[in-house]
Amino acid sequence: MSEKAVAVVGAGAVGLFTAYELTKRGADVTVYERQPLDELRNASWGNAGHIVPVMSVPLTSVANITSVFKSVFQRNSFMVLPRTVSMRSVEFLGKFAMNSRQGKWLRSVESLVHIDRLALSEFERVQDEGLALSFERAPFVSAFRTQHAAHAQISDLLQVTSRGLELDIALLDEAELFRREPLARAEGRFGVVLENQGLVQPPVLMETLRAELAGRGVEFVSASVESVDPVGGEGPSSGIQVLTTSGTQSRFDQAVICSGAWLDDLTTMHGVGPRVLAGFGYSLRVDVPDLPQGMLYFPEAKIATTRMGDSLRISTLMQIDDPNGAFSPRGARRLEENARRVLPMAHWNSVREVWHGGRPISSDGMPIVGQTRTKNIYVNGGHGMWGVTLGPVSGRLLAEAMVEGRPDIDLAGFSATR
Ligand SMILES: Cc1cc2nc3c(=O)[nH]c(=O)nc-3n(C[C@H](O)[C@H](O)[C@H](O)COP(=O)(O)OP(=O)(O)OC[C@H]3O[C@@H](n4cnc5c(N)ncnc54)[C@H](O)[C@@H]3O)c2cc1C
Repeated sequence: MSEKAVAVVGAGAVGLFTAYELTKRGADVTVYERQPLDELRNASWGNAGHIVPVMSVPLTSVANITSVFKSVFQRNSFMVLPRTVSMRSVEFLGKFAMNSRQGKWLRSVESLVHIDRLALSEFERVQDEGLALSFERAPFVSAFRTQHAAHAQISDLLQVTSRGLELDIALLDEAELFRREPLARAEGRFGVVLENQGLVQPPVLMETLRAELAGRGVEFVSASVESVDPVGGEGPSSGIQVLTTSGTQSRFDQAVICSGAWLDDLTTMHGVGPRVLAGFGYSLRVDVPDLPQGMLYFPEAKIATTRMGDSLRISTLMQIDDPNGAFSPRGARRLEENARRVLPMAHWNSVREVWHGGRPISSDGMPIVGQTRTKNIYVNGGHGMWGVTLGPVSGRLLAEAMVEGRPDIDLAGFSATR
């Protein structure tokens, strides 16, 4: 057990799961968050809530990078180029393009499979520990217009499962698809179902984690962190200083930076290799005549839907950009236009909770988890499209590495200094 004082920067799912695992191991944790805690609308709040580990593959595929550059000409591309050109975005895209090679992608999939394999059971473990995360097992159904596209998805998934991930997968014909998911009827002719995946309601998950941490004595500081630095040299008085933009300085034994798409602001000076930008996406909530059994995805339109209580959350788009990018009414319009096309039967006059948020995308498509070049400063971030799915497992592995010296499986593929 550790009695160390640890600062966690960022109250997204990754920061909160990390804080939870650290407190369980005896650490005295303080969480810094700059958005108002009562109305946190970060990426972890507005996402689709899919816990589908087999889909958490690196974004750096040849198909994705091609789609980014084609977005200049294609109106409805899923991955789109930054709206603002800056040194940061140019450097990021350069690295992202260099990393988008088939061989590298397959090696990255192999590293990810180690933690993907654990993702669903980690949610069950945390729920068994008493946290009502809203996690439930549910099917993930994709609806396709063509059989060719359905087969292509199956062969992509088999590429991942062949590296050691179990999957219960089936192809559905039109009748079977509509029987299971009446909402697919406007768009789908073929379906692919992955049984026994998971979903959460992100706002519930976030609120539960915060309440649990507060109950465990974790202090939440509402402040923007300006820097996280070592102080006191190498001797016994050494430590980590967290400086906020309002000038407050506090001292800790260790710090973990989990600041999502803003990771670079606090980590590049500590030798963290990959760059991180925001992959902005949009979501909204709407009433529908039939709720899906779990998650219903329209890959050709890149529209992801999730049953959330008695309505549907719909999300889409990947606009790579500066994390401080403002809400774009055009992005929200595009989500609604595309979603109306695949779901014309939804009650479109009930649209609410229109949201945008930035996925922390790393320049090699892989999470960044572990010690930085600076002793006692750690990082957990860059999970891209799958930070909720991988939050519990990466939080536990990092906490084990910090407190017990070694994680139970190798985190090397996610090294912060790669
Ligand atoms: C449209 C969309 C759909 C998605 N769907 C899914 C899905 O189905 N399943 C899935 O697993 N993932 C999904 N994701 C991805 C997932 O939302 C992210 O990977 C995850 O939320 C990242 O968590 P995080 O904690 O790293 O970042 P965040 O949730 O962004 O949290 C980072 C926090 O750090 C704070 N912060 C930043 N800098 C500072 C600072 N200097 N000082 C203090 N605080 C700071 C920020 O305010 C923020 O609250 C989706 C994302 C989007 C946009």
